[in-house]
Amino acid sequence: MRSCCRKIYLPITLILLAVSTLASEKEKVVTYRNPLDLALSLSGSYGELRATHFHSGVDFRIGGVSGARLYAAADGYVSRISVSPGGYGHAIYIDHPDGRTTLYGHMMDFAPNITRWVREQQYLQKDFSVNLYPEKSMFPLKKGDFIGRAGNTGSSGGPHLHFEVRESSTQIPLNPLKATSITVVDNIPPEFRSIGFYGICNHQALPSRWKVASHNSGYNGIISLPDTFYVAVDAIDRQNGTNAKLAVYQYNYYLDDTLVFSFTPEKIPFDAGRYINSIVEYSEKSNNNISMVKSWVEPGGGLASNIRSVNDGLFILRDNLEHKIRIELKDEHGNTTNKYFRAKRSGSPGSLKGDTQNSNNSFSRSIVMPWFIPNRYHDSLVRLMLPPAALYSSIEFSADTINVNGDIYHMVHNESTPLHNPAILALKVPAKFAGMPVQKLMLVKLNKNGRLSSAGGTWRNGWVEGRIGSFGIYGIATDTIPPVVTPLFANNQNLSGRNSLRFTVKDNLSGISSYNVWIDGIWILTSYDPKNSRLESELMPDKLRKGVNHDLEIEVKDNKGNTTVLKRTFIW
Ligand SMILES: [Zn+2]
Repeated sequence: MRSCCRKIYLPITLILLAVSTLASEKEKVVTYRNPLDLALSLSGSYGELRATHFHSGVDFRIGGVSGARLYAAADGYVSRISVSPGGYGHAIYIDHPDGRTTLYGHMMDFAPNITRWVREQQYLQKDFSVNLYPEKSMFPLKKGDFIGRAGNTGSSGGPHLHFEVRESSTQIPLNPLKATSITVVDNIPPEFRSIGFYGICNHQALPSRWKVASHNSGYNGIISLPDTFYVAVDAIDRQNGTNAKLAVYQYNYYLDDTLVFSFTPEKIPFDAGRYINSIVEYSEKSNNNISMVKSWVEPGGGLASNIRSVNDGLFILRDNLEHKIRIELKDEHGNTTNKYFRAKRSGSPGSLKGDTQNSNNSFSRSIVMPWFIPNRYHDSLVRLMLPPAALYSSIEFSADTINVNGDIYHMVHNESTPLHNPAILALKVPAKFAGMPVQKLMLVKLNKNGRLSSAGGTWRNGWVEGRIGSFGIYGIATDTIPPVVTPLFANNQNLSGRNSLRFTVKDNLSGISSYNVWIDGIWILTSYDPKNSRLESELMPDKLRKGVNHDLEIEVKDNKGNTTVLKRTFIW
């Protein structure tokens, strides 16, 4: 009897289940609108090979000036708001019912109701930089609701909208042009620019590699190559209606008809973004600032789910016949470019070639550092500790002491080798700093342009120790000079009618660490824009009485504790 009933009810249950699944899926279908009133034109695309990450969104043009109105791309609610001098500047995150989050970065300002609440939080925290997670019910939005205006805040190189679409649960950034109904016209295939061929031997133990040849798209001859090599490709994508150099969606490298290497920069979690340095040929990036996607998959590299490869992405020539190397480049709209090169194995074995990676000279001190363990180096002047997962491949680490205009610097390995996790570097304090206040000592990096940049660090028992994100030339310097703060108004000036006070701030070396402005003893919200060396304090009637004299105090500190305090009066 029971089994009979079951036979009757099962199909009905299934139908009910199917209907309810259909309903809930229908509920989740969200269509997205253009977040701008302007026709969409990209100045940057998803997956672009940036300095320390893959571009996690798309950059939309806004006509060259800040102020374009921004709208919620779909129904949802504001789940996060962040304000900071760097990064995304003023940014809004909206969670949508389909499990996605949209992000609007570098905004000029927020809609008035959001601004009011954010300003309250900034005054509560006495900080311009805030990272806020409003309650779901606080800022519900309908698709097309005004959320603020696009701008140039944070680390932005000009007015634009940085637009991101993330999977809400993981915060993994998705390609907005694939994950949503937002589309642009694109029937132009990627553009091949150049290819580099690199010989390699001992690739899993202690790799030696050397550049054999590089060619641009016009090359038609037969390339003579060692039996084992890898390639690195510089390519961009183009789209209709924009002259921007955009990202290639997929790189496929073939030897004859065998796919040796494939890379798709997609759905890369933020904490894995730095693995970009295991994807690009880092020697080209550090020397020529070109990001070329290389086929060699380094043993300590990342992004395994974005890569398909055979032989660790190495091309192996097993005979002396002519072979075909095919570079296939795809964009996200299916447009494809193929580039062919002809190659033949050269007579001489690769291992006899010169070695550019582990160059060794008689003056330097060197040790082998395997990629899969933590590593240490120390001598009387330099101590270095590499944490696990700092290297993509094993290296023959070398340290060298060099004299630059009478100052001692230390060559800490070489700039052509990337560091994934920061290393701890300590340098012995030279005698010339004897008597200096030790809290003013810091590490500096001597850059290729001859300029010094701060590398932080603190004094410990005769050494200065800090975390470094790259190999290169390091030394010790002092910063005893406080920041220079210049008010852009005269003392006692009548500023009635203005809604802000402006200052320029500059620091010589260690960088600005904090800034505070008080008017009549009240902390006043002050925005900081490092790229323009600008502080701007608001003048608002809810904080200040109008029509009277005011006392202003501004305090700016650098990272070495040097402090500038200025006092001014003004009428407002
Ligand atoms: Zn962007």
